[in-house]
Parts: sequence; C-alpha cells; structure tokens
Amino acid sequence: MANSNESDVLIIGGGICGVATAFHLAQLGERVTLLERGEIAGEASGVNAGGLGGLGWGNNPDLQAYLTAGSFEIFKTLQLDMGYDIEFHAPGGLQAIHTAEQADYVKNRVLRLQSEGYHAEFLTAREARAIEPEASGALAGFMFLSKRARANPSKATVAFGEAAAALGANIKTGHDVQAMTQQPDASWQVRSSQGEFRAKTLVLAVGAWSRPVGDMLGIEIPVAPIKGQMWATEPVPPSIFHLSGSMESPFDWSNQDSDENYPPEITHRGDTRVTRHLYGGQTRNGEIVFGGDRQMVGYDYTPDATGIEVNRGQATEVFPLLSRLPIARTWAGIMPFSMDGKPIIGKVSQFENLFVLTGLASSGFGRGPMSGKLLADYIHTGHPAAVLAEADPARCVNFK
Ligand SMILES: Cc1cc2nc3c(=O)[nH]c(=O)nc-3n(C[C@H](O)[C@H](O)[C@H](O)COP(=O)(O)OP(=O)(O)OC[C@H]3O[C@@H](n4cnc5c(N)ncnc54)[C@H](O)[C@@H]3O)c2cc1C
Repeated sequence: MANSNESDVLIIGGGICGVATAFHLAQLGERVTLLERGEIAGEASGVNAGGLGGLGWGNNPDLQAYLTAGSFEIFKTLQLDMGYDIEFHAPGGLQAIHTAEQADYVKNRVLRLQSEGYHAEFLTAREARAIEPEASGALAGFMFLSKRARANPSKATVAFGEAAAALGANIKTGHDVQAMTQQPDASWQVRSSQGEFRAKTLVLAVGAWSRPVGDMLGIEIPVAPIKGQMWATEPVPPSIFHLSGSMESPFDWSNQDSDENYPPEITHRGDTRVTRHLYGGQTRNGEIVFGGDRQMVGYDYTPDATGIEVNRGQATEVFPLLSRLPIARTWAGIMPFSMDGKPIIGKVSQFENLFVLTGLASSGFGRGPMSGKLLADYIHTGHPAAVLAEADPARCVNFK
C-alpha cells in the first residue's frame, strides 16, 4: 500500500472550501490528503449564519450564479440524497426595505434581475406579512428571493469532510502547516506540526489566512481578514420563517466610492461605520440568530458590543418581537475578503501544480461547495471551466 503521507492532491484548510474540494476530488478518484491545523469547521465555516443560495441560475449564468445556485444543489444532494442531516431548508429569503429611496432602488433591481431570468420579487410589507407574520408592517417593503436557503454551517462542513473520507480521502486535523517546498520533479513536500507529506498537487484553502500562508511561498494572496459577528436569543417557538436581512447595506454600497485600502462591501472604514448590514433567521433549535458587521480589525475574535446593539436595533426594526427577547450569546469569526471583491479560484501561475481557493468573503459558506467542485474538476482535467475566468488568481496573486 502506498505511504499514507503521499497523495495526488494535498489540501491545506478544513473549512467549507477545503472539504468541498476534497469531496469532489475524491469523487473523481483522486487520492486526497487534507491538513487542518484545528478542527474541521473550526473557523468561519463553522460559525457563520448558514445562509445560502441566491437568485437561481438566470438565463446566462455567470460565476456568481454558478457558485450560489450550484452550491444550493450540492447542499440539497447532501441532505436529500446522501443521508447527511445538515438542517438544509429552502424557505426563501426576505430583505427589508427601510426607506422610499431604497424601495425605488429595489424595484429597479428586481425588474433587471427578472429580465435576466433570476428569481426576485418586490413585496409590500402587507404581502410580506402574509408569509412572515412577525415582520414589521411599518417598512417600505421587502425583496423576496425564493432561491435562498439555510443549513447548519458546522454540520454541513463536517458532512463534506465525512463524505470525502468515506470516498478514501485522508482528513487530518491538528496539523498546522509550517512549510511547503517544491521538489525538482515539481511535486510538493509539506511539513506540518505533526509530519511530512508529499503530493503532486497542492491546494491552499486557508480562508482568511491566505496572506500568512502565501508568505511561506513568497507570494502575496491579497485577502483581508474581516471580522463578522453574530448574536442569538435563547430558543423560542417558531417565529421567523425566512432567511431575513435588509437592503440598507446593498443600497449604501451601491452609492459608495471604492477605497483601495479596504475591500468592497464592509460596514466600517477604520472606526467609522459606513452602513448597517443585517442577515439571520431562526435555526432549527429555535434560536433567533442575527449578525451583520464586517470590520477590518485583524485576527480579532472579540464581538464588539456597540456593533451588536446597532445590529439588534436594525433587526428589531424588521421584527419588533426581538425587542422582548434578550441576547443570550454573541460570537465572531474571520472572513476571507479579497481586495477586489471577487473570488480567487484557480492555478497560481508562479508555481507548477499549485492551486488556490479563497476570497469568498461573507458568502463563502453558500458558495464554497460549487467552488470546490469547479476547482476539483480543474485539477482533475487540467482545464478550468470558462466561468472561472473572472476568479483567475493571475489577476491579483504576485511574487512579493
Ligand atoms: C459571523 C459570520 C457569519 C457568516 N455568515 C455567512 C452566511 O450566512 N452565509 C455564507 O455563505 N457565508 C457566511 N459567512 C462567511 C463564510 O463563513 C466564509 O466565507 C467561509 O466559511 C470561508 O470558508 P473557507 O474554507 O475559505 O475558510 P475557513 O472556514 O476559515 O477555513 C480555513 C481553514 O484553514 C485553516 N488553516 C489556516 N492556516 C492553516 C495552516 N497553516 N495549516 C493548516 N490549516 C490552516 C484554518 O484553521 C481554517 O479552518 C459568515 C462568516 C462569519 C464569520
């Protein structure tokens, strides 16, 4: 039997991106090893809100449609066909509209999306309350996205790891990768805190740690660590049925100038809040969970109490019942935001047999499974799907 420390493909990172890539490579018959320094789903992939899906495939699917609608199908397969209970449920999503200006913006956007074959609707507050009775009737309306869903982030990420292992992948936790060296035959030698590994192909799927891991190879992978934070109530009877959020931030971001020091679509520049962002819903165990802030504060896991209160205030505007429910717990995680806002998926041109999958920002849970599939297909066939062109690392990964 071959040495278990040798494989065709070695993946670093046991978040949703790493395990989804491992699963799809194993399905294709590749011998895979995955090294994770903590636990599977120990970082962002295990602590997120579990929101997934989007607008559907549309008439002419672009990368965003592939990643969201494709991942939606893969999550569904895991739940319905493969026997993993990942709490997948697709009730659709409601995005609150707070002002008349936002309502005009949303109506235009919905018309454009519909003309492109996507699933989006404008609802009055009254119409929304017919499907979400606790939603506020005082709002200017809602955007309804029927192709939104949720799953339990930790269960889903662990399930991909288990599904990969069931197909023969070697999933190893507690392995902190400390060095990667390309051999004369262009294969890779990787040293972790617990051993040495060899593989023809190396995949970096290290999320918000892309910069420090890139440093080990002398390349810059321009991904900023962005803190996301959430809060939850105690379990309560079923009260909120859709994935719920607000259109305030997309509206504000659509009017904002870019700033090269910050990735797009974050809530703060330095200490200054530039918008309020909101997403969440009720989980199967009854907790109502909301979050939204996205701050560039390094690898800081401390929830910011002021930001939590701002977020709770916005959530209460949408669901007045929240004013009666105290916060039971808060937490934070670190998200991988690329500096140009686009995913980074593909071959790193500076080295032979080196691939990267990162930069999925605040929607990496919902986009990770299809990203992993597209990358696995690329590695297996040697050819990228055409839709990956806009995620090509060549646009932004450079030698330092
Ligand atoms: C509070 C919060 C809410 C969110 N809500 C949503 C949501 O509702 N929907 C959605 O789609 N997305 C959401 N996200 C974003 C989503 O969680 C991330 O985009 C996604 O999990 C990123 O996956 P990843 O695999 O790239 O990174 P990670 O999950 O961070 O995994 C990277 C892994 O690499 C490992 N690693 C790093 N360096 C090394 C090394 N040297 N050796 C070995 N292992 C290493 C880390 O330990 C980590 O486990 C949210 C994020 C947060 C924080």
